[in-house]
Amino acid sequence: MASAHDTPTLGETEEEVLGVAAVLEDGRSRGSNQQNHVLSFKITKNGEFEGLPDPLNTPDMSSLIRHMSRLTGKIKVGTVHCTGFVQAVRQGIFPKCPGRMCPENHQNGGRGYILTVTTALHVVEKATDQCPAKVKLSWHQDGRPHQLTAHLCSVVDTDKDCSEKDWCAVEFITHNTETVAKLKENLEEFQESQGNLYREYKRNKGDQLVIIVSYPNGGAKQLSYCPKFYKREHVKYVREDQESCRYSYGAPTSEESRGAPVFILGQPLCGYGYWLGHPHIHSRSTGAIGHSSLGNDHVDRE
Ligand SMILES: [Zn+2]
Repeated sequence: MASAHDTPTLGETEEEVLGVAAVLEDGRSRGSNQQNHVLSFKITKNGEFEGLPDPLNTPDMSSLIRHMSRLTGKIKVGTVHCTGFVQAVRQGIFPKCPGRMCPENHQNGGRGYILTVTTALHVVEKATDQCPAKVKLSWHQDGRPHQLTAHLCSVVDTDKDCSEKDWCAVEFITHNTETVAKLKENLEEFQESQGNLYREYKRNKGDQLVIIVSYPNGGAKQLSYCPKFYKREHVKYVREDQESCRYSYGAPTSEESRGAPVFILGQPLCGYGYWLGHPHIHSRSTGAIGHSSLGNDHVDRE
C-alpha cells in the first residue's frame, strides 16, 4: 500500500508528456504545440467530431468529448473569467429566486433549475452582490445553437480540512426550461460514455490519457489533450475505497482554464456513470505543466 509520502511518476520528462489543444467551434479545428504535434478535426453543424486522431477517435471517446464540451461553461465573476463543469441538474420551486442578480422571477420566486458546477474556489469566492457571478453554456446540437445563462446562488462544498482548498462545488440557477432539458440529455450521455470508457479501459489497459475542456483567455472553448499524465501525487486515504490525490499533466491550459474538468482515462471515479462528489478540476500551471486540484480517486482493490 502506498504511503502518504509517495509521489509516483511515470518516469518521463515534462517535454515527453506535452499535449496539444484545439478550439471547439463549428468547422475545422486545428492546433499544434512546439513539438509540432498536431490536433486536427472537423466539427459538424450537429456538434459531431470527424477525424479526431487516435486514441480519441473511438465512438465512446468522441461521445465523451462532445458531451463534456457541452457541459463545460464559462464563468464570469466581475471582469474575471474561469471555467466550470455542470455535474448535476435538479429542479426546485422557490418562494424567492436564490440567484444573486438573477433578472427572472427574483422577487416572486417560482420554478427554477439548480446546476451544481465544479470550479476553482479562488475565483468564485470573490463574488459578491456588487460583483455577481454567472455561468454561460453554449453548444451546437440538432443543427442549431443552444445557450443558457445561470446565476450564482452559493458555494455548497469545498475541500475540507485542507490548506489548499481550491476545489469547490457551487450552485447556479436558471429558469430556461427548454435548454435545461437539452443539458440533462447531455449529462446522461456523458455519464454513459464515462462508464463505457472505464469498462473498456479495464479490459484493455492503455495509457491514462488526459482530456481538459476549458475557456482559455475567456475566449472560445478549447479541447486540450495529452497522451499520458506526468505525475500523480497521493495525498491521503479518505476512506477504505477512496484516496485524495492530485495530477500533473501536459495538456495545454491558460489562466482562465482554472476550474475546468480534468478527465483521466482509467481513473475509476470516472467509471461509475454518476458523480461521487469530488472529481479533479484544473487548478494552476507552472510553465507547460498543469496541476489539478485535490480530487478523490476510487481505489480499485481488484
Ligand atoms: Zn431567478
